[in-house]
Amino acid sequence: MHAEISENDESRAPDGTLWWDVTIQPGTKAFPFGQEKRLAAWLWFNKSLGDTFTMRELRDALGSDIAQNAEHLNRRLRELRKCDWSIPSQRTDGTLAQDEYRVKSKGGRIWIDGERAKYKKFAPSARTRRLVMDQDGSRCRVCGLGADDTYEDGQQVRLTIGHLVPQERLKSREARDDLNNWRIECSLCNETVRDELPDPEQLDEVLAGLKRLTAKEAGELLAWMRKGERPRSRVDQAYDRARRLAGPDRARVIGHLAERTGDVG
Ligand SMILES: [Zn+2]
Repeated sequence: MHAEISENDESRAPDGTLWWDVTIQPGTKAFPFGQEKRLAAWLWFNKSLGDTFTMRELRDALGSDIAQNAEHLNRRLRELRKCDWSIPSQRTDGTLAQDEYRVKSKGGRIWIDGERAKYKKFAPSARTRRLVMDQDGSRCRVCGLGADDTYEDGQQVRLTIGHLVPQERLKSREARDDLNNWRIECSLCNETVRDELPDPEQLDEVLAGLKRLTAKEAGELLAWMRKGERPRSRVDQAYDRARRLAGPDRARVIGHLAERTGDVG
């Protein structure tokens, strides 16, 4: 016997499927229903504020494809955080166990048609993205790493375009494509993923490291810290471009520089 499905049961899609079991976008034939929507719906209806959950619990409830591994799950949680969900992990909440997450506050009900759109970011045009990449020498303006670099844990650096001005002010096309509104940020420095940084730095260790800097270097660092970013100098920018040349052309650049500086090695 089928249980009576109440018309007001918000946990169910129009066809009666629980929202977190939906795989095809309602009203479409085959458009996949985003996994972060299923995740959001499951958390919304099955967890209270302050409750915790683990990756194992998610896999049991939603299937293994929702959280194949920690990195995969973090990508989904990142999407939820962009939609005003607050879901700390052990990195930002020391009371949590490893692989444990807390529903601190619930955000957008993104499984509902139209709700997701409220959180759409105003992305720059493809042309603006290219110009920003060029302007910043294809490096994170905050930490200076490029796409060819790796983080300390061996992960490849991912570059994104981050916005400097609040999203609300970007709503005109003109404002959106103003180069001054954008800069390159790597995925670690980008605001939306900041709470997923690896082990936080310790002040005493950083201060100890500062002692090794010369006065000139300390002054340089002071300027970066005050500005909140690390500008790429003309030399940095020239290096970024020159090192991407093919081997023989790189050798010619080295020859050119050796001649120009009188430093023939
Ligand atoms: Zn960075």
